Amino acid sequence: ADDALIALDTFSDRTAGLVHPALRLGVTGLSRAGKTVFISSLVHNLLNGGRLPVFEAVRSGRVSRIRLAPQPDDAVPRFQYEDHIAALVRDRIWPDSTRAISQIRLTLDYESASGWGRMFSRGELSIDIIDYPGEWLLDLPLLSQDFRTFSAQTWERAQKGVREELSRDWCRLAEAEALNAPADEAKARALAEHFTAYLKACRSDERALSILPPGRFLMPGDLDGSPALTFSPLPLPAEGRPEPGSLWAMMERRYEAYKTHVVKPFFREHFARIDRQIVLVDALTAINRGPEAVADLEEALAEVLACFRPGLNSFLSSFVTRRIDKVLIAATKADHLHHESHDRLERITGRLVHRAAERIGLSGAGLEVMALAAVRATREATVEEGGAKLPVIVGVPIAGETIDGQVFDGKRRTAIFPGDLPANPDQLFAARPEGDLVNFVRFRPPEIEETGGGLKLSVPHIRLDRAMQFLFGDRLA
Ligand code: GDP
Repeated sequence: ADDALIALDTFSDRTAGLVHPALRLGVTGLSRAGKTVFISSLVHNLLNGGRLPVFEAVRSGRVSRIRLAPQPDDAVPRFQYEDHIAALVRDRIWPDSTRAISQIRLTLDYESASGWGRMFSRGELSIDIIDYPGEWLLDLPLLSQDFRTFSAQTWERAQKGVREELSRDWCRLAEAEALNAPADEAKARALAEHFTAYLKACRSDERALSILPPGRFLMPGDLDGSPALTFSPLPLPAEGRPEPGSLWAMMERRYEAYKTHVVKPFFREHFARIDRQIVLVDALTAINRGPEAVADLEEALAEVLACFRPGLNSFLSSFVTRRIDKVLIAATKADHLHHESHDRLERITGRLVHRAAERIGLSGAGLEVMALAAVRATREATVEEGGAKLPVIVGVPIAGETIDGQVFDGKRRTAIFPGDLPANPDQLFAARPEGDLVNFVRFRPPEIEETGGGLKLSVPHIRLDRAMQFLFGDRLA
């Protein structure tokens, strides 16, 4: 019955689409990748006549009106655009990051570029932007794993590299449980808390590791504290089956509940209806953390990309009828680099997705890689040092940020030599001396810029217009 309902749903979506064309654009990425900032800046630039020379429909003047409109899904929280943009533009602080799914609708009135198009299209397109945590996508592989396999994999991963140290407390606690210890809520909670603490430690700024299912342990949305999230993988029993009523059996049941009540509904109700997708990637942080974080990010991207090929997964292919036909992988925060390095960042990101994309057959016209900054918090300059001209970036570092022992006060403009990315992406996977490649201090959001006749003000960015052109330019042709 569930499936029939969904089929009906997609049908009514489609017929609605005939009357009023709508495009569902998914925006995802692991936490802190820049989803909130990206959506806020994209909407602001469209509403306020931002500088968008590569976005053809706007540049050529074919778009006559852009407005926010009520979203189609009543049960999904609205993306809090007004709050986020007030923080960014008025207070010049970064907005609160994505914690769960939300959406916002933009409607554009436009004139088709071709006479043929003008005759048949009403010249109105709605874009539903769906913001959701990338962590949730990493749960897809769990659907084909039972608790035993999931436990074994998580356990094995926890013994590798820096994870061994980070997982020690949780592992000790889990190992201390006898196989047939009776089910006990307090124990379950303690184990779940230690396990979550381990996952969080991996995601911390110093580690910047990426692959960490279950996704809701890091991004619980509205499920924080529910039994479906109060479980933990357990070491495998050497032989035999755990008895009914044991802690192991309790954890197994909760793991299955997590899949049924959390993972599946997300894919069925939200993911399945997306038409186009942008995946934001904070490659710079991973690059600074070294080869382990880079390799980990590559693996996480492979799992994310696999979600966009529903044919590879029997659960997804059972109900995903429309295909996501364009996926953009965007390395964010390019304003932390001098523009000479933007192409290198793009190449590195391309290298991170290339192998996975080939393996699952996702390469080609539908997949694009870019480096961008949804908000450009810096300007470029050159400084002279010992007769040589050095490219620098200038911005206001956030209070408390440090570089080479210097602590910033959050007020003064400062020039920073951003550092160099390697020309050959393979170097990022090789061991290298300690220390950051890129001098990464967080800057305050910039003052907004005048565009056009000086009447409108919009958020400065890098290549945001290129992203728009790729993601929905063709739908305004
Ligand atoms: P989310 O968790 O994916 O929603 O991430 P956010 O959009 O909240 O971004 C996390 C942080 O990254 C922000 O608070 C900013 O400090 C930084 N950030 C995101 N996008 C940009 C950007 O385009 N330029 C700069 N300089 N910083 C950014």
